[in-house]
Amino acid sequence: RANAKKFEFQAEVSRLMDIIINSLYSNKDIFLRELISNASDALDKIRFLSLTDKEVLGEGDNAKLEMQIKLDKEKKILSIRDRGIGMTKEDLIKNLGTIAKSGTSAFVEKMQTSGDLNLIGQFGVGFYSVYLVADYVEVISKHNDDKQHVWESKADGAFAISEDEWNEPLGRGTEIRLHLRDEAQEYLDEYKLKELVKKYSEFINFPIHLWASKEVDEEVPADEDESSVDEETSENKSSDEEEVDTDKDEDEKKPKTKTVKKTTYEWELLNDMKAIWLRNPKEVTDEEYTKFYHSLAKDFGDERPLTWSHFTAEGDVEFKAVLFVPPKGLVDSDTLPLNVSREMLQQHSSLKTIKKKLIRKALDMIRKIADEDPDESSAKDKKDIEESSDIRDKKGQYVKFWNEFGRSIKLGIIEDATNRNRLAKLLRFETNKSNGKLTSLDQYISRMKSGQKDVFYITGTSKEQLEKSPFLERLIKKNYEVILFADPVDEYMMQYLMDYEDKKFQNVSKEGLKIGKDSKDKELKESFKELAKWWKGALASENVDDVKISNRLSGSPCVVVTSKYGWSANMERIMQSQTL
Ligand code: ADP
Ligand code: MG
Repeated sequence: RANAKKFEFQAEVSRLMDIIINSLYSNKDIFLRELISNASDALDKIRFLSLTDKEVLGEGDNAKLEMQIKLDKEKKILSIRDRGIGMTKEDLIKNLGTIAKSGTSAFVEKMQTSGDLNLIGQFGVGFYSVYLVADYVEVISKHNDDKQHVWESKADGAFAISEDEWNEPLGRGTEIRLHLRDEAQEYLDEYKLKELVKKYSEFINFPIHLWASKEVDEEVPADEDESSVDEETSENKSSDEEEVDTDKDEDEKKPKTKTVKKTTYEWELLNDMKAIWLRNPKEVTDEEYTKFYHSLAKDFGDERPLTWSHFTAEGDVEFKAVLFVPPKGLVDSDTLPLNVSREMLQQHSSLKTIKKKLIRKALDMIRKIADEDPDESSAKDKKDIEESSDIRDKKGQYVKFWNEFGRSIKLGIIEDATNRNRLAKLLRFETNKSNGKLTSLDQYISRMKSGQKDVFYITGTSKEQLEKSPFLERLIKKNYEVILFADPVDEYMMQYLMDYEDKKFQNVSKEGLKIGKDSKDKELKESFKELAKWWKGALASENVDDVKISNRLSGSPCVVVTSKYGWSANMERIMQSQTL
């Protein structure tokens, strides 16, 4: 092509394409999933722009947010067209070849070890899967800000871009033309394609049409010979053909006709676009939620999400949402104002309401994981849970959640004052009495000794170090339970978490620890008063505020305690390690 300009693929992209071309991966169908997903993304983008500027859509067919698929059996071309945002020349160069995405080399590496291409979409390089089935690909694209261009490549390390002077104008959007390899001719089969599109369009909310063949009946004049032959004995007729039942009396007057099957083409809608979140939650199966979850994540493994929540919020702001753990999800609302800019939208009060409700729902959902987990003894009614059918699915799920997201819960406690108590309920930790298992605040409180007012905790670098701490000596001797916080974020968290329900927290390495009094306490205090005074004088006053007789120790003679409002020793250590 005269006006074509050549470009080399970025090295990693080129390697990726080589691997794809030579791949023995058998599930080549996935290329269609990737193309549909890209077309859907492009349609989403133009739809989003159109919310604030209707003009971008243009008029007539252009404004139809849809995909169209065509099969050309003679030329062996499969093409997919969308009326999405399209790509400028610049976009084509960047998106399809010269800029490697961060996932490219990670995916190349993964491919070399596993050979499994299924996750290609997750790594942000799904487009190149077209070379599983095609040896030559053209991408024709029209963006509102540019002329129509063609990108083309035979995956030989280079691609070319030209201003389009040959194809029909797209108006707006992208057409991907796959020149299918000899061994991939099956994708020209309408039946196969329909099945595949159905499979991959379950959660696509734009119509996908196929230029599909259709058998129609057509009346054609019957020739003289044939009409005189008796129907049953006719040998010229194919079995599909049917002769019109004509009335004998009218035979003479009317010209004789017969019906033949004729193949015509028309756009056939392949997907029903019944969005999962608009459906009644009672009618959606676990499998459907799981599939939807995977389509959101572009992760096509078979692992189930830990849990999900599908609900409709009513009131000032109405919306429908499906939330998942691990975090992913979708919110659909008609009550957001559309005639404002994106920045304004983010400030809008409806969005704040939505956020507030979503956080509540998400927290409820996380609590549900714990409530339904038979390993969590705080579960309300163990018997109920054990009777539930999918008990094996739920066992150990909370620990799994906690190991992955515990940090986020702790950060939430720091940042979100409104939900602090709800988040604290989700906390798990070890104590000097938990035998390596995780426990919760509710469980801790239920085990508190009579007369114990505060929740005791200690912070430090490791559980082992904390267990040996002199601060714990007497508490252990007196059979108190102490929370062992060994994560640096715990120290920060506890500056925000002052109380839980009606209990206060007491750092046992700080001033103010109150445990049951001994009758001898007063006597001892009196007899050591002078010694304490002497110590106070002997120690440099800038380092030591006070010297006190206390009952917190059992074996060790003395211990350095931090004042109630100062940093704990652990906090000092953390701060110091940060400034070094
Ligand atoms: P991803 O979809 O994860 O970004 P792909 O490799 O599938 O990765 O696509 C690369 C990029 O090419 C997309 O991010 C998008 O910018 C562009 N692209 C691909 N297909 C289309 C399309 N049909 N319309 C507009 N842009 C597209
Ligand atoms: Mg993609």
